[in-house]
Amino acid sequence: NGIDLTGKLAVVTGGYSGIGLATTRALVAAGAHVVVPARRPEAAQAAIADLDDVEVDELDLSDLDSVRAFAERFLASDRAIDLLINNAGIMACPETRVGPGWEAQFATNHLGHYALVNHLWPALAQGGARVVSTSSLGHQLSDIRWDDVQWERGYDKWQAYGQAKTANILFAVQLDALGKDSGVRAFAVHPGNIMTDLQRHLPQKEMVAFGWVDEQGNMLATDFKTPEQGASTQVWAATSPQLANTGGVYCEDTDVA
Ligand code: NDP
Repeated sequence: NGIDLTGKLAVVTGGYSGIGLATTRALVAAGAHVVVPARRPEAAQAAIADLDDVEVDELDLSDLDSVRAFAERFLASDRAIDLLINNAGIMACPETRVGPGWEAQFATNHLGHYALVNHLWPALAQGGARVVSTSSLGHQLSDIRWDDVQWERGYDKWQAYGQAKTANILFAVQLDALGKDSGVRAFAVHPGNIMTDLQRHLPQKEMVAFGWVDEQGNMLATDFKTPEQGASTQVWAATSPQLANTGGVYCEDTDVA
């Protein structure tokens, strides 16, 4: 892909499935050493077994003690971070607007990322890092004006996912401003619509509501992007030399990985 990351260290949360795994592969192909903090380290080891320059550690973003412990282990290694891809996330379908599903989405998709960046700050500042927040076009689900028809179809239950993804964008914008003195830059990306475990785990009735499958479970939508295309948005935001922070980088059709 023409990008040379030789000697660079990248951290990719959830870098062992879906978009994150494709990002790990793209970064390794470009010469980077990649740290993959994983909620399921054994699954991560299996997924990256064919890659030489990847190390797996343990991290549960929904558990702030786990976030702090991972950061402490990393800082103890006295290494700088050049790229942090805050990719890990969940898309739960809560039956109620307030409750476990709502809390889990904020805890994982936003609070965990926020805590991770702040605990890792010394290593990020040391590397003058590029930080990528994986947001989503789903951030629009937090906006009732987005599409009243969708809203009436029950999309309001996605409000928590949308708000957490909106928070990712706002966090990236603020981080980009706050990080200027230390050379840290931050960007949010929307990787496009990709059929990964994140979506495969949804109840079928939700997939029907999204127009992805029919009542029998047959695929209807044909415009899904590939994990590699999603990864290309993350790699592009992590490496492109000239990026203005516009509050989110929408690059669904970018294919640079
Ligand atoms: P996947 O489910 O394949 O990947 C999500 C990753 O996040 C997994 O590795 C998962 O680990 C990890 N993860 C989940 N919860 C935690 C946690 N508490 N602590 C640490 N890691 C965790 O889905 P995608 O590749 O699709 O998703 C990657 C990102 O892209 C997400 O942030 C998602 O919101 C975003 N996105 C996805 C889109 C899509 O269409 N697929 C569209 C727009 C944005 P484990 O498998 O162990 O649970």
